[in-house]
Amino acid sequence: MISKEHIIKRFISYVTVDTESDPNSNETPSTKKQWDLANKLAEELKSIGLQEVTIDENAYIMATLPSNVDHEVPTIGFISHFDTSPDFTGANVKPQIVENYNGKDIVLNAEENIVLSPDYFEDLNLYVGQTLITTDGTTLLGADDKAGICEIVSAMEYLVNHPKIKHGKIRVGFTPDEEIGRGAHKFDVKKFGADWAYTMDGSQIGELEYENFNAASAVVKIKGKIVHPGYAKGKLINSMYIATEFINSLPRMETPEHTEGYQGFFHLHDMKGEVEETTLEYIIRDHDLGHFQARKEVMIKLTKELNSQYGWEVITTEIKDQYFNMLEKIEPVMHIVDIAEEAMIESGIKPIIKAIRGGTDGAQLSYMGLPCPNIFAGGHNFHGRYEYVPVESIIKATEVICKIAELTAKKE
Ligand SMILES: [Zn+2]
Repeated sequence: MISKEHIIKRFISYVTVDTESDPNSNETPSTKKQWDLANKLAEELKSIGLQEVTIDENAYIMATLPSNVDHEVPTIGFISHFDTSPDFTGANVKPQIVENYNGKDIVLNAEENIVLSPDYFEDLNLYVGQTLITTDGTTLLGADDKAGICEIVSAMEYLVNHPKIKHGKIRVGFTPDEEIGRGAHKFDVKKFGADWAYTMDGSQIGELEYENFNAASAVVKIKGKIVHPGYAKGKLINSMYIATEFINSLPRMETPEHTEGYQGFFHLHDMKGEVEETTLEYIIRDHDLGHFQARKEVMIKLTKELNSQYGWEVITTEIKDQYFNMLEKIEPVMHIVDIAEEAMIESGIKPIIKAIRGGTDGAQLSYMGLPCPNIFAGGHNFHGRYEYVPVESIIKATEVICKIAELTAKKE
């Protein structure tokens, strides 16, 4: 339905613009260079015929494809982010195109002996015979999430050019700074004005996600007392030993390295200690809200127990909620997931529905009043030099967007 060359050209025009975000900046967008692509996208949305194209002072872009039916149809939205991860450089991306992939090793960079191999990345076997876009081994690719942007723009262009496909009002939203956890922060849900939306920000073709972790952070501070070690008997209190008591009192098997699927965990990710003071930093994760609350309780109870055991307030624990499982907001409107699933099946794709072991911008948007499941964008091995995307997956995602628009207009 959509020409491969057209898709490749569009995708490459996005990934060759450096839009790496920066967690150490307090500005929005966090890097000035994100404007380069943002301005270009706003122009492109106008040129393909979208209306109400706006770009605000924080570089959030919104646009409208008006309804082409007489009856009332819910307004739906499609959302992607244009920044790339600060985990790996996104400057001077030089995309390589591998046509008719033969299932063997792909040499990304002969000089530095960087090879993308199906022996290590088995997913490559799914795409034998397809056209892959890879890096040259020295940068990330930025398919996360410029594939998503390419799909949304291409779908809107297709719908503009094929008015026989009937759809309601569709809103498009492109955000900065998703990779540093701020993509939804300044998203104006009211202005967007959609009944629901989809982020096009998943990985493998078929992915459909509407469950994620409930998340909190915990900072545990343990106080000690320093005394000259030669005269310390009965006086010195070593905060590092108390910290190990705390650590060892939490279940050792409920950690990221021992859990999967719907299993939650405590993750000790930072620890700094001296005799006088030790600080432990944890994140707490669980899909189930009850279990999530219970995990927080466990930490508070342990803090109280150790404090009463030592007879003074040696430990203070500060727990902060970070984000919540979108399931709670999606369950009452499950038809929005059903439509996406149906759209995939009608496009010949097998839906892969699984719970995210992390968060998404959609989770935050769901709690801001815009229910927002996540759909595949097609790429693999995000945030590094082995990132790649099959062009066929981008085309399929574009089809799914058009199908969702069409099905939504039919349902109501
Ligand atoms: Zn992403």
